[in-house]
Amino acid sequence: MASETPVDSAEAETAPEKLTFADLGLDAAVLKALKDVGYETPSAIQAATIPVLLQGRDVVGLAQTGTGKTAAFALPVLSQMETGHKNPQALVLAPTRELALQVCEAFEKYAAHIKGVSVLPVYGGQGYGQQLSALRRGVDIVVGTPGRIMDHLDKGTLDLSELKYLVLDEADEMLKMGFAEDVETILADTPSTKQVALFSATMPAQIRRISAQYLNDPEEITVKTKTATSTNIAQRYLIVSYQQKIDALTRILEVENFEGMIVFTRTKNETETVAEKLRARGYTAAAINGDVAQVQRERTVNQLKSGKLDILVATDVAARGLDVDRISHVVNYDLPIDTESYVHRIGRTGRAGRTGDAISFVTPRERRMLTAIEKATRQPLTEMSLPSVDDVNATRLTRFDDAITAALEDTAAIATFRDVVAHYVAHHDVPEADVAAALAVVAQGDTPLLLEAEAFRQQRFDNDRPARDSRDGASRDGGPRRDTSGRFATYRIAVGRRQRVEPRQIVGALANEGGLRRGDFGAIQIRQDFSLVELPADLSSDTIGRLADTRISGQLIDLRLDQGGRSAKRSDRPQRRDRDRD
Ligand code: AMP
Repeated sequence: MASETPVDSAEAETAPEKLTFADLGLDAAVLKALKDVGYETPSAIQAATIPVLLQGRDVVGLAQTGTGKTAAFALPVLSQMETGHKNPQALVLAPTRELALQVCEAFEKYAAHIKGVSVLPVYGGQGYGQQLSALRRGVDIVVGTPGRIMDHLDKGTLDLSELKYLVLDEADEMLKMGFAEDVETILADTPSTKQVALFSATMPAQIRRISAQYLNDPEEITVKTKTATSTNIAQRYLIVSYQQKIDALTRILEVENFEGMIVFTRTKNETETVAEKLRARGYTAAAINGDVAQVQRERTVNQLKSGKLDILVATDVAARGLDVDRISHVVNYDLPIDTESYVHRIGRTGRAGRTGDAISFVTPRERRMLTAIEKATRQPLTEMSLPSVDDVNATRLTRFDDAITAALEDTAAIATFRDVVAHYVAHHDVPEADVAAALAVVAQGDTPLLLEAEAFRQQRFDNDRPARDSRDGASRDGGPRRDTSGRFATYRIAVGRRQRVEPRQIVGALANEGGLRRGDFGAIQIRQDFSLVELPADLSSDTIGRLADTRISGQLIDLRLDQGGRSAKRSDRPQRRDRDRD
């Protein structure tokens, strides 16, 4: 590598309010979109990569998912590109269709104020028809998996002769999945004048060789992790889907014994939304973010200190350096974009020699960020389950008991009301216990003291954002869409969420062991203790035998034909309910 820029994101933390997206030299329309999205400051990888890409240099970025790397390449591409050409100007290669779709979504979000930009996802398993007609009409940005991109190049249906920007996203994953040859062919057969950005979580020799061979004097950018967390903070995480976060937070507020709390969100807009929802549920909560004037911010923090306010919903920038002893809990409503921010955030609790609690919400697709946090802080986080109806009710009953005990201490008031109750008992011939119960009914008012199990049914945790379902092949009930063509059969493998497997690991392992091709995979559903994978119905017994002996994360997968996906689903569900009842 010609030059190297190690970025110390802890350093970036010291002057965060000075560095804005505008400072990086991005186009005004892109800045406007970022304002809408509500990002406050560039992440470490963005701050380091964007100016270099805007200068036109090639980049090799060592960055994991969750660090903001998508914006790190998407924003400069959008800032520089000319729209309206027939042939694509930019191509992003991604290892999986899920990532390709995510990247497309990100491009569309950041391009909201650029007129006429078209972004096309191109991946295997999707019909050619739609892709062909879009390509014929002309697209600006293509985001795809290497195999399908190669298919189009071979067929002559994709013309990359005008390519200006090529991004390799998760390059190490692409190589692991057997795309090395395709990636090299694409690098070699596209204009030598193109700018290349290669992102990878690791830097194996093969990637070093590829970047030395095909990139032009690239700047290597790594984000150093310098982190230490104190041991007086208990760190837990909860796997939760995006839509369930507010409900999960409310349940946590019910059962956790908290004094003061900071809830961290990723965007300014989200601080306001969450604070508002908490207020609507009866909590004293306020939002602070970079847009809130300093005076107002100070006033809010003072309210938190004095106990007038219990919950502060904040972005990283707004809460930096906050030192309030009574913060007993930090909740990462959204995971931070780098591990240093995680350390800064949770350091807001456990002040002044006290103990603290940190709870992080992790959506299924953020598990890798969780691993990165555990690695960086060298501390495992403990998984917690969503507080159940019984948990919530037990806490409410304890509080109710405490309120009775406290009221009994006011002897004067008790003496007065004892006469009132005695009068009622004497005139209505009702036992005192029933009168006390009736008074409890009066006291609960319109809000029932106890929750009913029905109203609090456990929702499914399997999917992150069902709103995207129509795009990434999932059905309306939230599960991946099942194949109905008869080409696929559903197989069951003995690894699931508990083993932290991801679809890409399953595809990688089965493709390697069984000599399967990308098109041989249908829907993959990851459940708690097993996964369901659609594979060709006509697999030979030889292949099945080889696949059965495959290991994923060290565990034998014991692949077998699923005896009806439905029964498998059912057996998974009671486990969840059981957990609720624990
Ligand atoms: P990525 O690593 O690109 O997958 O991004 C991870 C998440 O961080 C995505 O949900 C982005 O929307 C979000 N994100 C990216 N950049 C920023 C930023 N500067 N501030 C806040 N959130 C961001």
